[in-house]
Amino acid sequence: MNSIPAAIVAGQVAANEANRPLSVFDMFRIGVGPSSSHTVGPMKAGHAFTAAARDHLSGPLTRITVELYGSLGATGRGHWTDRAVLIGLAGHRPESVRTSVVDKIMDEVNDCGTVEVAGLGTVPFDPTTDMIFSPRTRMPFHVNALEITVYTANNSFARTYYSVGGGFIVEDLSDDPATNPNPKAMATAESKEAHSRPAPHAFSTANELLEICKREQSRISDIVWENEIAARPEPDVLRYIADIQDAMAECINAGISTQGILPGGLGVRRRAPSLHDELLERTKEDSLAGMDWVNLWALAVNEENASGHRVVTAPTNGAAGIVPAVFTYYCRHVEDATEENKIRFFLAATAIGALIKTNASIAGAEVGCQGEVGSASAMAAAGLAEALGGTPEQVENAAEIAMEHNLGLTCDPVGGFVQIPCIERNAIGAVKAINAARLAMWGDGQHTVSFDTVIETMRQTGADMHSKYKETSEGGLAVNVVEC
Ligand code: SF4
Repeated sequence: MNSIPAAIVAGQVAANEANRPLSVFDMFRIGVGPSSSHTVGPMKAGHAFTAAARDHLSGPLTRITVELYGSLGATGRGHWTDRAVLIGLAGHRPESVRTSVVDKIMDEVNDCGTVEVAGLGTVPFDPTTDMIFSPRTRMPFHVNALEITVYTANNSFARTYYSVGGGFIVEDLSDDPATNPNPKAMATAESKEAHSRPAPHAFSTANELLEICKREQSRISDIVWENEIAARPEPDVLRYIADIQDAMAECINAGISTQGILPGGLGVRRRAPSLHDELLERTKEDSLAGMDWVNLWALAVNEENASGHRVVTAPTNGAAGIVPAVFTYYCRHVEDATEENKIRFFLAATAIGALIKTNASIAGAEVGCQGEVGSASAMAAAGLAEALGGTPEQVENAAEIAMEHNLGLTCDPVGGFVQIPCIERNAIGAVKAINAARLAMWGDGQHTVSFDTVIETMRQTGADMHSKYKETSEGGLAVNVVEC
């Protein structure tokens, strides 16, 4: 199976340094909306640049420029990539930046004509000339690239970064990334150390994972758990999963309780608050009310994401509503839901997301929306099947069904905003995940199309997909819907 290079290195360490599958710490991260690749990654790039610049330059800065290439240049305005880079340059991280900083920074930059570069002071900045959108320039290593350059009176320093999906970034150490790229995956010290510890059950395909389960007489969540606690202390893993669950619940609550029109100018109204009120009123005789609740939870998360607020990247921001909606469905609609099975949900979902990310891609800019909503739907389906007591074969089947029926899904966000079709698409993806889990649980796990085959099909379909359907807003709904 050929892997997309960026997908291989997306696990924070390069493939040749990795000796374990991607972890729950890789597949679920707390960040801000609206996009993991166009917001979270660029914010991290801005933050990383400040440290690199401090190593290379001293003296007062006279100018800073940011150039956004490819998909970042095409849909960076709608995804607020410009704002994200400036927030990172000011020293903030996606997991901890305050919403007030996010909401105000562009007004402050426009009012003052300067930006803050952490550790190097303020520098003159004119967004109309110093933030450059270059959608037609595609860097050879990856379609989501950005270059930041700072100048002093007699020197300059530039670095190129790639946002390779799910909030992961890769820096390019070459003097000429346009012709001779030299990418290097970036990782925190903690992540590097965790990834350096061998996994007791290394796997890179679904077939290998099923073989391990058979040999060990274990469930998928048991295998992932043993890999996790070989890398980090058990309490840290449990705490992290609990934090992810809490952050998802907070995001749903925020979405349900916030009214109004989403930012960006499309005039998209938040629907979660009114749907919530209606569902509370509705009689119990409505046999489809359960599906409406799932829709509500997905809408709530994605409306928060579209507002640039805090979400859990799962595995991306554009698809951030699916796993929380299905998880909440398990918690509230399955009578015998247990705390143990809630943890198993996230462990099984991690295994599925890791397989997709390693062997294909979770980035809309690389493979279209099948890689975002399709991946999240497969992860959620597997998580639910695992929590319902599914065998490894049933869990793998659930993921396969969910991904199979998202194949070919294009990425065509109207106006470049993660709103149309993204918000509703999460609701559909969540319901599809539940249906996939139910279909799989009705069977015995035996099926014709393997999950490995579906992942490879998704990768090939993404490679064949025209670039106008890969997060450029140059095709599909993006050109057929008239913006008001
Ligand atoms: S269409 Fe899908 S892949 Fe594209 S931005 Fe929306 S959610 Fe992400």
